[in-house]
Amino acid sequence: MIFTVAIDGPAAAGKGTISRAVAARFGFAHLDTGALYRAVGVKGGDPVAAANGLTPEDLARDDLRTLEAGLAASRVAVIPEVRAALLDFQRRFARREGGAVLDGRDIGTVICPEAEVKLFVTASAEVRAHRRWLEVGGDAARVLAEVRERDDRDMNRADAPLKPAADAVLLDTSGLGPEEAIAQAIALVQAQLPG
Ligand code: C5P
Repeated sequence: MIFTVAIDGPAAAGKGTISRAVAARFGFAHLDTGALYRAVGVKGGDPVAAANGLTPEDLARDDLRTLEAGLAASRVAVIPEVRAALLDFQRRFARREGGAVLDGRDIGTVICPEAEVKLFVTASAEVRAHRRWLEVGGDAARVLAEVRERDDRDMNRADAPLKPAADAVLLDTSGLGPEEAIAQAIALVQAQLPG
């Protein structure tokens, strides 16, 4: 069975938590596409060369989840050649046999517009910054500023900007706990599964 679940949205909206839970529930493969951009961002040197030569070791680095890696990712993500270099891998992953969940910014709009389920997960910038701060600690005002900076760059870039696909279901997690958000996503996928 070919079945793609596209989960897009801004930083720290809950995409990762929802994606992992949906993949586990249905036995689908999961790809965190942000990790690809983070790996390119932290590798240094020419970002296009880094994107073309990404290795499993690059994706296994333990510094990919830092605030700095997120900002570095959003800077290289505006480069069309970087996005082009990562496109085929993501498309093949999306249409692999057995079902796939991909989370990112442009899965439902660019990578897999034919996805069977498209979810746009969002939450207020303050709620998202608070969640990120619980993960990374440090100065809360700085975390909020970085979330806003990344939102701005992701939404306003020319190539594959962050926006909901016309046929995406919106899920605002500002007032939802993880279990509730996961349950809504699972119900949505269940409703679209064949048979
Ligand atoms: O999802 P995550 O926060 O790990 O993504 C890091 C950055 O990578 C995003 O802020 C965005 O700039 C970029 N990204 C992207 N397209 C994707 C996934 C991530 O441009 N599909």
